[in-house]
Amino acid sequence: MIKKLALQWLEKNKAKFNQISDRIWDYAELGLQEVKSAALLASELEKAGFQVVRGVADMPTAFVATYGEGKPVIGFLGEYDALSDLSQKPIPQRDPVVEGAPGHGCGHNVHGTSGTAATIAVKEVMEKQNIQGTIKFFGCPAEETLVGKVFMVRDGVFDGVDTIFSHHPGSMNAAQLESSNAMNSVKFQFYGVASHAGGSPHRGRSALDAVELMNIGVNFMREHIIQEARIHYIIEKGGGAPNIVPAQADSWYFVRAPLRDQVNHIYRWILKIAEGATLMTQTTYEYKLLTGCYNLLSVPSLADLVVKNMREIGAPEYTVDENKFAQTLQATIPPQNIIAALKRSKRHDWRKLQGVTIDTSIPDPWGSGDVMGGSTDVGDVSWQTPTIEFTTATFALGLPGHSWQKVAMGTSSIAHKSLLFAAKTMACCALDTLTNPSLLQKITTEWITAKQEEEYVCPLPLDLKPPLDQFPTN
Ligand SMILES: [Zn+2]
Repeated sequence: MIKKLALQWLEKNKAKFNQISDRIWDYAELGLQEVKSAALLASELEKAGFQVVRGVADMPTAFVATYGEGKPVIGFLGEYDALSDLSQKPIPQRDPVVEGAPGHGCGHNVHGTSGTAATIAVKEVMEKQNIQGTIKFFGCPAEETLVGKVFMVRDGVFDGVDTIFSHHPGSMNAAQLESSNAMNSVKFQFYGVASHAGGSPHRGRSALDAVELMNIGVNFMREHIIQEARIHYIIEKGGGAPNIVPAQADSWYFVRAPLRDQVNHIYRWILKIAEGATLMTQTTYEYKLLTGCYNLLSVPSLADLVVKNMREIGAPEYTVDENKFAQTLQATIPPQNIIAALKRSKRHDWRKLQGVTIDTSIPDPWGSGDVMGGSTDVGDVSWQTPTIEFTTATFALGLPGHSWQKVAMGTSSIAHKSLLFAAKTMACCALDTLTNPSLLQKITTEWITAKQEEEYVCPLPLDLKPPLDQFPTN
């Protein structure tokens, strides 16, 4: 009965949330610059009767909206940052709205909005039915650069929360149990001495040599670290012209591994290699850790709860036109890549999805013990409180992550249906945990087991400030 009230409320108000999601898609703001997107969601929650604290954890676009009092405390996450250079019209051919501008290639316009919709729906029901407890919506900026939630965790923003629900747009209606890689993001600056590269090379010391030797050292190190680790780098600055010995050269590294202490071990080794490169080249260096994050802890009973509620609600169905639109986008991807993506999902019935455009099934949770290649700052939240991030089918199967094809689908009626389905699922899960103390107890017990008595040590130094200038503003 109480869940029905939430479903009815969301159904009645869906047009408003579709509009909000579309507006955030339109704003397409990069991490820590999501001024309009964060303001839109925060003001919507405020209008609905939530107490909103803006600018938490030293980030102007991070906020927390709270309703109710006492235990239990149930949380929802919302992200709203876009990705560079992915501007795209909502059509199935590559055509940017503004050449070179950002776009929502990860569906975070839907992410922030589905969480907001669910949070307000739960509040409406709590009020009507006199349900005890507190609900909190966490407005989380800069997920793409793994910044927002790690700083929020460090500053205690998630303290006292009993469990958290989060939704990410995907290509399946799924609650997976796989983990994600822990990670460090670090920048290196090497300093040498400029000189005429033809006339007086002996008087110069090349910072670029140091960058190159460091990279070589790291690439030799790879053989002697765990196979699951992933290390990738770019050279941000390598000098001005060949006839000048580069006095400064910069590189940027990501270090990933399944567990936090594995990242720490490799990271310390890389710092030594950087130092070694300066000894070889008679240069100096500085480094700056931008951010770091933990692996994701999964809680099977949270995944079961999501799937149970998804099945009770029922997955959306799609019209011929919706399928046609999605098919045209799917056709821009080579068929072998789509099959490879399905296989990589490790879903036991992935073969059945060959030839399918929008997945309408709701599989059992899977992936326990697996680790996805990427990283997410939801990982750090999952070490503070039992957390689940599930997906709904927003995109055609096989579309690559962070692609213009995903931007093109972000305001479609398919995305709108997935938003509503996700909000309904989250609202029902939250109402279950608010009204069933033994369920919450079971979730907590499983989470404590998942941590295996390991203590969370924030990857960020206490005095590190959020990188508010990580993207240049126009
Ligand atoms: Zn994302």
